[in-house]
Amino acid sequence: MNEYDSNRIADLFKSKGYTQSFDINNTDCYVLNTCHIREKATEKVYSDIGRLKKNYKNKFKPFVIIAGCVAQAENDEMLKREPYIDVVVGPQSYHKIPKILSSKNVRRRKINFTEFDVIKKFDDLNTIKNSDSSVSAFITIQEGCDKFCNFCIVPYTRGMEHSRSPKDIINEAIQLVSNGVREITLLGQNVNAYKFQENNKITKLSDLIWELENIDQLKRIRYTTSHPKDMTDDLINCYKHSKKLMPFLHLPVQSGSNLVLQSMNRKHTKEEYLKTIDKLLSINPEIGFSSDFIVGYPGETEDDFNETLSLITKVKFVNSFSFIYSSRPGTPASNMKMVETQQQKKRLIILQNLLKKIQIKKNNQEIGNLKEILVENKLKNQNKYFGRTKDLTPVILSGTNESDIGNIIWVKIENCNHNSLAGTKKIIESEVAA
Ligand code: SAH
Ligand code: SF4
Repeated sequence: MNEYDSNRIADLFKSKGYTQSFDINNTDCYVLNTCHIREKATEKVYSDIGRLKKNYKNKFKPFVIIAGCVAQAENDEMLKREPYIDVVVGPQSYHKIPKILSSKNVRRRKINFTEFDVIKKFDDLNTIKNSDSSVSAFITIQEGCDKFCNFCIVPYTRGMEHSRSPKDIINEAIQLVSNGVREITLLGQNVNAYKFQENNKITKLSDLIWELENIDQLKRIRYTTSHPKDMTDDLINCYKHSKKLMPFLHLPVQSGSNLVLQSMNRKHTKEEYLKTIDKLLSINPEIGFSSDFIVGYPGETEDDFNETLSLITKVKFVNSFSFIYSSRPGTPASNMKMVETQQQKKRLIILQNLLKKIQIKKNNQEIGNLKEILVENKLKNQNKYFGRTKDLTPVILSGTNESDIGNIIWVKIENCNHNSLAGTKKIIESEVAA
């Protein structure tokens, strides 16, 4: 989501006549977009500013904007602690950046824009073209969260759930496809809770998928991140009939222990999670799954942890993310007794090794197979290209050229390591991938 926000911040600047600099040591304005999901993010901001100060020691000071959730959480504190910062702007207020830039005497005062203004933000952003022209692009369709998992800072930094209007989303998708985009990932902290009501008509994520399906040159549709509780049957059914929705789902479970899930306030059990996976597999046995895991949550015992390992073995996730529990100030779990750090680290290594083992096995099984790959870009300094399988696995491509970018091609997989595949383009006369 921060990647999408950063691109939109760049679009806002461009709309005011600014150009994007790729040389951070030679710019008039520096925007640091930050994430606050785990600790150390705040300290990282100050160390980045320290580096900036050093690099601009004998130059004109750039105008420094700190955006995102760290700005939201720290706001005035940040302006007080580091005078080098000119503006803090939260994730629901960044549409105000053009106003900040055009205001008089902007360099003489410190500005704090951290109110929740999500409706106005999307209204303003809708008036500015999304200039993303990469093969695979994001669209934020939903923001914020009302679920309040006990470990999580999101409801406090991004605010309550808000869904964008379907009309604006489809317009943005059409715009992106006309820029050359061929794959769209719909984004939200709880993307499958997407719900927009207008004149008694309710639009859900499944409805949006069907609408996107009609955009001719769009080839692949994805969405992330989903909450297990919101995997409703209408959405599950999309995997039966949609030609463009990829058979891959990122469905964070966090833990395989019901005791831990309850203490996290996750609102789902291990059994409910597995039932959803089974339903999806019965519709399409090819669906791949990935997940998020938190290791060493307060109160997690060895038995709880082993239950997470057995869930991983059962589902055989691909491409998962795993984190040591990080205490976030102000969240209920921050008052709970921490698991000892050494224990947390040990468990993370065990869990990541298991995920890696499953992934290596799966990747090795792909050798010799023909896969449909969406070609995204040429690799730097190599005569090879980069693409992804339907389940998001990165593939290094040989036998491809510039004209393949944006197309889905057949590739024979010849090699792999634990997180990527490598293969050569094949022309299949009877069956050319759409
Ligand atoms: N809405 C999604 C998750 C969004 S946050 C869901 O409910 O599944 C992205 C991921 O960050 C989470 O899935 C979780 O694994 C991780 N995360 C969030 N807070 C964390 C914390 N305090 N410590 C460690 N990991 C955390
Ligand atoms: Fe955070 Fe996701 Fe829980 Fe919401 S549902 S509080 S975003 S982990």
